[in-house]
Amino acid sequence: MALADTPASPASLDAFWMPFTPNRKFKQSPRLIVGSEGLYYDLADGRRVLDAIAGLWCVNAGHRHPRISAAMKAQIDVLDYASSFQIGHPAAFVLAQRLAEMAPAGMNHVFFTNSGSESVDTALKIALAYHRARGDAARYRLIGRERAYHGVGFGGISVGGIGRQRSTFGPLLNGVDHLPHTLDLARNAFSRGEPAHGIEKADALEALLALHDPSTVAAVIVEPVAGSTGVLPPPRGYLRRLREICDKHGILLIFDEVITGFGRLGTNFAADLFGVTPDLITTAKGLTNGAVPMGAVLMRDEVHDAFMQGSVSGIELSHGYTYSGHPLACAAAMATLDAYTQDGLIAQSAATAPYFEECLHTLRGLPGVIDVRNVGLLAGIELQPWAEGAGTHAQAVAQHCVDQGGVLVRSVGDTIALSPPFTLERRHVDQIVDSLRAAIAQTA
Ligand code: PLP
Repeated sequence: MALADTPASPASLDAFWMPFTPNRKFKQSPRLIVGSEGLYYDLADGRRVLDAIAGLWCVNAGHRHPRISAAMKAQIDVLDYASSFQIGHPAAFVLAQRLAEMAPAGMNHVFFTNSGSESVDTALKIALAYHRARGDAARYRLIGRERAYHGVGFGGISVGGIGRQRSTFGPLLNGVDHLPHTLDLARNAFSRGEPAHGIEKADALEALLALHDPSTVAAVIVEPVAGSTGVLPPPRGYLRRLREICDKHGILLIFDEVITGFGRLGTNFAADLFGVTPDLITTAKGLTNGAVPMGAVLMRDEVHDAFMQGSVSGIELSHGYTYSGHPLACAAAMATLDAYTQDGLIAQSAATAPYFEECLHTLRGLPGVIDVRNVGLLAGIELQPWAEGAGTHAQAVAQHCVDQGGVLVRSVGDTIALSPPFTLERRHVDQIVDSLRAAIAQTA
């Protein structure tokens, strides 16, 4: 049976254990998506809703983008699968070159993965192996940050900073520590872009290094803007300070740009917007517009080149995935990058961001709104938690938005997260903000 023939209401929802979902609750009142087009999802009950979160922060060019769909259809009839283990196919090389051209200067090498989680674990492994390759095997520690989300691999949850995603899975990686998070409502509430206060939070890195001995630390990983824990833009100067401290101690800096990469902030990467170049950048999501799984780790030439010594017949890095550089994903990614750059979608993202910011900040002063924060087409509206429990306020607002306003938003804790496709117009911004205004007022 072709997927298009799948019934809109499956006879049973029992077999599929849904990820990051309260399964029993969901299955009592399921919400199913049966179609998509541009900025919209079609729900099984016949409603069409505005997708204000680009699927799951990934469909940046809008749903079923014609260029991307056409490229995938063409590819599947030519080459379905080819391994990248000791053989290859041209598209993976072409795509890697294309990514190198988009990346910050000096980051000309790419390792392909299939997801953000795999990109994070790959970047951490490359960081550890890089120091070994240079004869510095004493560097085994990794430093993440509180309130970080780096996916669900053991590496990612070890450096991640969300307690409940770590506590059920045992001791995790050895030698990991965490910087403090940067959210500071007392000083920075209702900031636009980078908050003014908090650069000193980067100095906590020096304190951790003093504690552990900097010569044992391999890498520091941060999301330039933390996404899944509530959209937390970095304090002004913070990322630069991290860069300086890492440089001083020979530590690699990794930016997890799984959300912020490919135009979400109006530039190719967050590294470009903030003017700080890390040693490695992890990506996924927007790379293929969400149309097929793919991730990529971009790295500085020095990192890559450290592995390219010694015997030419030896495998330089014992790591990789069956689907690294999958032909279908490469085709989708090439078409997606064309849409972002040649069709001007990243420029469109940048052009719409000021109006998005302006409208969102009109929510300030509504009952229970304790913060609005934004950068590019990424925003969080934080709500006063209810006594009923963490997250219940934002869940109620999100439910109201989809049911009454026809707008799909995402609740992360007590923050409403927004990351709309770059194709949105002012009228869509108005609809999103109007629906939020109504939902916030009616749930107050
Ligand atoms: N890193 C960041 C910053 C993310 O936001 C996510 C997913 O939201 C991931 C990693 C994990 O990506 P995936 O779900 O594709 O494994």
